[in-house]
Formats: sequence, C-alpha cells, structure tokens
Amino acid sequence: MAAVTQYLCTVISHRMITPTVYELAFEGEPIPSADPAKPAPTEPFHFRAGQYISVVVPGAGPGGRDLRRAYSIASHPEARPVELCVKIVDNGPGSNFLNRLRKGDTFKGFAPYGDFTYETSPTKHVCFIATGTGIAPFRAMMLSAEYQANPPKSATCLLGVRDEEELLYQSDITPYGKWIPCVSQPKGGWNGFRGRVTDYLRTLGEDFPWKETEYYLCGAGQMIDEVRAILTERGVDKDSIHREIYFKQPKPTA
Ligand SMILES: Cc1cc2nc3c(=O)[nH]c(=O)nc-3n(C[C@H](O)[C@H](O)[C@H](O)COP(=O)(O)OP(=O)(O)OC[C@H]3O[C@@H](n4cnc5c(N)ncnc54)[C@H](O)[C@@H]3O)c2cc1C
Repeated sequence: MAAVTQYLCTVISHRMITPTVYELAFEGEPIPSADPAKPAPTEPFHFRAGQYISVVVPGAGPGGRDLRRAYSIASHPEARPVELCVKIVDNGPGSNFLNRLRKGDTFKGFAPYGDFTYETSPTKHVCFIATGTGIAPFRAMMLSAEYQANPPKSATCLLGVRDEEELLYQSDITPYGKWIPCVSQPKGGWNGFRGRVTDYLRTLGEDFPWKETEYYLCGAGQMIDEVRAILTERGVDKDSIHREIYFKQPKPTA
C-alpha cells in the first residue's frame, strides 16, 4: 500500500458537467514535512483506481478548525491532470469550498486513501452500481491500464440519478461495458429505464449470471443496503460485494 502523502494541489480547471455536479482538475505536488528531520517527499501524486483524496477544508470546522472531506478520484492513474467529480450539496462546506476554486487556486489534500479498488477477475463478470457521483471510482477503474489489461468477462454499469440531466460519463464508460442509466424522476421524454437501480436489478431474472459476477457498489448508503439485500436473496456470496458508502441518509424522526 502506497504511503499517504500531503499534497498542495493546483487547480487546472473547473467546469460544470451537470446542473449540480462539477469536475475539478488539478496537479498535486508533495508538501515537505514541518519536521526538518524527515526527508523531503518526492512522490508525485499517485493512487490506484478507486482510491480517494482527503481534502482539507480550511477553517470550516467547529472553532474555525479545518475539516476534511473525501473525494474519489474520477480519472485513471495514468491520466494528468487528476480529476474529481463533485455534487454541490446545499450549505455543504466541502463541496462548496471546492466549487469556489478556479484555475491557479490551490488546496491541500492527503492521498491516496481507501481499499475500494478493482480486483482483476477475467473469469468473472463485473457489475458496477452507483448513485450520482458514485460513478467516479468506476470511471477511474474502467479507464485504468490495469483494468484494460485484465478486463472481466463482461461489465455492466448501472447509474441511478433523479433526472436525465444528472447522468455522468456515459461516453467514457460505454466503450468498456453495458451502460444502464436508471432515472427515477425524468423531466422530459426519457426513453430509458424509469426507476431506481434497485428497481432495475429486480427486473433481472435467472438468466443474469448472479453468482458469476463481482459487484462494486458506490454512493448513497441506503442504495447500497438495498442492493446488498437483493444480491443476498439471489445467493451472491458476500465476498463478491464490494462497497464505498459516500453518505448515510439521516433516519426519519418519529
Ligand atoms: C470515500 C468517500 C468518497 C467520496 N467521494 C465523493 C465524490 O467523488 N464526489 C462527491 O460528490 N462526494 C463524494 N463523497 C462525499 C463527500 O465526502 C462529502 O460528504 C460531500 O461532498 C458533502 O460534504 P459537504 O461538506 O459539502 O456537506 P456536508 O454538510 O458534510 O453534507 C451534507 C449532506 O449531504 C449529503 N451528501 C453527501 N455527499 C453527497 C453526494 N455525493 N451526493 C448527494 N448528497 C450528498 C449527505 O446527506 C450529507 O449528510 C465521498 C465520501 C466518501 C466517504
């Protein structure tokens, strides 16, 4: 496992890629330790597809302390600049801090973190299931040299969003897998699947290779819990279910 390093990240570009999601591209340079006894780090920004950066949000915590927020890296390890794909959350300190940055601005972050990485499985099928920006690590995985050198038997990618304007990265993913957008509340004349990713999974019958597939789930905790329950009913081994929870919805108050 590569050592976590602190980086000074310089923004290369910021662009909206849906009405509520932006892509932030940056280059990271290692920051020397304040301890003069420690050697200056020389590590360029490195990570495995599926890992994340922990971004420092200056002064946004209690008593003006810094906060940290995790963001999956949406670009593949061989690509530069590095890209994040971030949903703007109302009054959210982390997503709004990054959203204010423009070309030439800097931020600090620690990377790489996480073990939500693709394990090569050429004898198995792969099913990636995301809600919203949970698609970010799957884009990184599918575009990575590691994945492309060892592709699965087949890949399916389900992306759940509220409306069709929030769909992400279709053109990046379709060359490498079956792309299934699941739109729960379409705005216009939507011809694709109407419903959540869980509704789509329930339409699949016995001909789907349930037990010969590795499942990668990323995004809202509730979706992940519901998908796991469906997969368990289908007899999928728990070791074939890999997950990254972005957030848990608050429990409804009585
Ligand atoms: C390992 C990991 C990787 C992550 N990667 C990404 C990523 O690539 N892109 C990304 O947009 N977010 C990602 N997140 C979520 C991110 O860390 C923050 O939680 C999010 O940006 C909200 O932080 P905030 O400070 O703006 O708002 P907060 O005030 O901390 O959050 C407010 C509420 O927003 C909701 N929320 C959080 N994240 C999302 C989201 N992505 N979509 C919709 N609602 C959300 C939750 O209900 C949360 O309680 C990741 C989280 C984890 C744990």
